Amino acid sequence: MRKLTELHLHLDGSLRPETVWELAREKQIALPAASFEELQLKMRAPKDCTSLHEFLERFDLPLLVLQEEDALERTTFELVEDLAKEGVSYAEIRFAPQQSLQKGLTQDQVTEASVRGAKRAMELYPSIRVGLILCCMRGSANEALNLDTVETARKYLGDVVCAVDLAGAESLYPTEMFGPVFARVKEYGLPVTIHAGEAAGPDSMRTALSYGAKRIGHGIAAASDPALIEELVEKKVTLEVCVTSNYQIGAVPSLKDHPIRRLFDAGVRVTVNSDNMTISDTSLCRELELMREVFRFTDKEIDTLLEYAWEARFLK
Ligand SMILES: [Zn+2]
Repeated sequence: MRKLTELHLHLDGSLRPETVWELAREKQIALPAASFEELQLKMRAPKDCTSLHEFLERFDLPLLVLQEEDALERTTFELVEDLAKEGVSYAEIRFAPQQSLQKGLTQDQVTEASVRGAKRAMELYPSIRVGLILCCMRGSANEALNLDTVETARKYLGDVVCAVDLAGAESLYPTEMFGPVFARVKEYGLPVTIHAGEAAGPDSMRTALSYGAKRIGHGIAAASDPALIEELVEKKVTLEVCVTSNYQIGAVPSLKDHPIRRLFDAGVRVTVNSDNMTISDTSLCRELELMREVFRFTDKEIDTLLEYAWEARFLK
C-alpha cells in the first residue's frame, strides 16, 4: 500500500462539530443552532444534497468561529490530528485567510496561527507531514484581498505554506476574471492549484492552465473534451478529484456517472480527495473505498492513484 496522501482538503469544511460548539460557547458567538444535534445537522450537507447553493451554505457556520488566532490554531491542529489518526502520511490543507478578518486579524496573522497549529500537530504526530495552501476567493470586489493573500503566501512560503489556490463560486466569477492576481503569482513563482472545471466548463480549466497551474481542483469538466484530456495527459497535469463532493453539488447526476474512471483510463493523473470531511461526512479512506465499490478500481489501480497524489505534492 502506498502512502495515504490527501491533496485537496478545506479547513473550514472539516471542523469537528464539538469544537465549533465549544468555541462558540467560550467566545459567546451566536450559532444558528439551538442544540448540539442541530449544529451537527447544519454542518453537514443533507444526505440528498445535490445543489451547489445548499452545499456552499454549509461554509457560513464554521467561518463564524474561525475569526481568532486560538481558534485557527486549534482547528488546524485538530484536523492534522484527525488525519494522522486515519493513517494519512501527507496532507495539504487549504483555507482562505481573507475569510478570517472579521475581528481584525491580518492575513499574515491568520496564516501564522494556522502554521502554529500544523507544526504543533506534526510534533505530536511525526507520522504525518502537512502543507497549507492559501486560497484566493472568487468574487467581484476582493481583488485587493486576493493580492494580499498572494503577498502572504510569498512571505510564508516554505516548509508549511506551500501554494496558492482560487476557490469559490466558479460559475458566478469565471476564472478569466483573475488574470491580474495570477500574473502576480507567476511573477513571484509561487506553486499554484486552481479550482476549475467543477461548476464551469473546460475553458475554465484552460484558463487555469494558462495561469501556470500544474494541478487543478476537480477538473471533471475535462471528461467532455477529448482535446483537453490529451493536453492534461501530455502536460502531466494532476486533477484533485473529490467524488462525493462533486455529486453533492450536482456536478454529476449520480455517483456512478462520475467520470473519474474514464479520466483515469484515458491516462489523466487523477487523485482521490475528501474536499470537506465534515460537510461531506467523508474521509480519504472512505473516498478510496468508493473507488473500489462504485468504480471497480483494483488495489493496483488504487496504488497508482496514490502514487499520482504523492508525486504531485507541493512539499518535496
Ligand atoms: Zn475544494
